[in-house]
Amino acid sequence: MRNFLYKYAAFMEGRNGFDELGGALIVVSIILNIVSRFFFTMFWVRLIMQLVAIILLAIFALRFLSTNLYRRSQENDFFKPAIRGVVDFFKLNYRRLRDGRTHRYYKCPSCKAQLRVKNVKGTHTIRCPKCGTHFEKTIR
Ligand SMILES: [Zn+2]
Repeated sequence: MRNFLYKYAAFMEGRNGFDELGGALIVVSIILNIVSRFFFTMFWVRLIMQLVAIILLAIFALRFLSTNLYRRSQENDFFKPAIRGVVDFFKLNYRRLRDGRTHRYYKCPSCKAQLRVKNVKGTHTIRCPKCGTHFEKTIR
């Protein structure tokens, strides 16, 4: 096993390996594959979705093994904000579901940071810890 890891490390030397874009490609590919199996009965729609899923996996594999690190990191940097946006969206909504009874989430009006406030009735002055802005919210 150690020998294998050593060989793997030697093989991956100078190659791109796993990055955010690679992770996103795999996740989208798996989602496409699952969705195509369960939600679409039209043969052509399924076929195209599964083909796209395979193409995404192939792109992942090529990027993983690529030795053109400069281009790969440029691609990764280009997609990173979008990937982060999607991940943050799901994280926020997961948290909203998880502590929706005890807390409320508000967006800071000046820096757009998401703020979590205890769900207590009344008017509150909220201070954004990120930028220091004060704003009022009323919880009924
Ligand atoms: Zn703020």
